[in-house]
Amino acid sequence: MDKTAPIAILGGGAFGLSTALHFVDAGYTNITVFERDERIPSQYSAAADLNKIVRAEYEDSFYTDLVLEAMEGWRTPLFGPYYHETGYIVATSGKAPQKAVNSLEKALASVSKHPTLKSGIKPLNTVKDFRDYAWQFSGPLNGFKGYFNRVAGYAHSGNALRAVHLHCASRGVRFLLGEKSGKVVSLRYDQTGRCSGITTADGVEHTADMTICALGAFGASLIPSLGKFAVARCWSVAHVQLTEAECDLLRGLPVTNVRDLGFFFEPDPATRLFKLCPLGAGYTNTHGGTSLPPTNPNEGPLRDFIPLEDELKLRQLLRETLPWMADRPFVDRKMCWFSDTQDSEYCIDFVPGTQNSLVVLSGDSGHGFKMMPTFGKWVLDLVNNGKQELQRWQWKSPEKQNSNWGDAVSWRVGTAKELSGLAAESNKVLKARL
Ligand SMILES: Cc1cc2nc3c(=O)[nH]c(=O)nc-3n(C[C@H](O)[C@H](O)[C@H](O)COP(=O)(O)OP(=O)(O)OC[C@H]3O[C@@H](n4cnc5c(N)ncnc54)[C@H](O)[C@@H]3O)c2cc1C
Repeated sequence: MDKTAPIAILGGGAFGLSTALHFVDAGYTNITVFERDERIPSQYSAAADLNKIVRAEYEDSFYTDLVLEAMEGWRTPLFGPYYHETGYIVATSGKAPQKAVNSLEKALASVSKHPTLKSGIKPLNTVKDFRDYAWQFSGPLNGFKGYFNRVAGYAHSGNALRAVHLHCASRGVRFLLGEKSGKVVSLRYDQTGRCSGITTADGVEHTADMTICALGAFGASLIPSLGKFAVARCWSVAHVQLTEAECDLLRGLPVTNVRDLGFFFEPDPATRLFKLCPLGAGYTNTHGGTSLPPTNPNEGPLRDFIPLEDELKLRQLLRETLPWMADRPFVDRKMCWFSDTQDSEYCIDFVPGTQNSLVVLSGDSGHGFKMMPTFGKWVLDLVNNGKQELQRWQWKSPEKQNSNWGDAVSWRVGTAKELSGLAAESNKVLKARL
């Protein structure tokens, strides 16, 4: 491809920004990123957050190796300030379903034999074992079993997005931001099916030789056929506001992931917020056969909201580990939207029928942020090769899709629900608001 040809990257989230970075590094000089929000990190990005886990535990060594490569990227001057290698405790509680126990055992087996990771792995079988790595755990840890992994931690995702945005802008990447000039409302195709560019909400048409669509959970809003295999799904996020002393108390705490309850991180020193996420199969928002996030996911009835069942899980998680926090109010609650595929594989491919003019980056399946330093390289490879060699990352044609949504993915525990069902079911808070 001519390196001066116009390239439009839609979405300034983790995948879009990583792509901009790798393309500018490769010498492309005419890149524009279109982002709906007025600032980066965008409030609509799944990565607009205090932290994301960076861990190499995968049952499939393909992803383990990719994360280890991404970790090298996290240790560079651009990404390093946002990467914190605190270590990682993975556990199941005594009440965990068998699926969660099995999944943990498989993860332990895979990291225990990995040449780079094995020396930093320690099985945790007793309360004392857990406290050896997280002395702050004053809860009973009833029936907890798991392991500690030294080569893992977290990244401050919102700050990493901001840094890569500023870096790319300083290297000449153009950013069009905001609900008028940054929000893409349609893709334009010529008579042959080639994507010739985009139209933004202010009605301006932008021509592009290559359009790269990286809209996360919103992908199907512009490419409806994507919604057949990459589904918008959300998980809950909540925070506890800590005092300075409480924040200092928890400094250095390893990322802790209790597979049947949820996970948390050491507090953010700037805001003193302690972030927690419940684990589960999440919620979809399906209308007319396609799940998409609400247009403004953090407004209306969903503002400062998480489902009651998730709140109860998080309180149980705290009761077991850090009980002094278990009854504190949750603040800054939100439903965080990502793009989910049933086998948890990313989609990094050309959209069929567009003559390699339209690329889609999607299906992060809730495990894409950690790849931010290296993700864009895979997009560059795709464009250079002219086709996706890796079957797992290919566009999934209808015959490759089935209706067995996500059951095979070991780390998803429970059954996915529709947001609309919540009010009818049990959630008094949502019911009162709707
Ligand atoms: C609760 C939660 C926890 C997670 N935890 C982890 C973790 O621990 N580790 C990990 O590796 N990953 C984690 N993830 C996944 C990670 O956040 C995603 O993999 C990653 O953000 C995906 O990047 P993306 O660029 O595809 O989408 P996003 O980062 O969501 O970016 C999409 C961008 O598109 C923009 N956009 C949308 N529509 C338009 C439009 N019409 N025009 C212009 N711009 C538009 C949005 O504003 C947004 O900035 C988690 C996700 C969630 C929801």
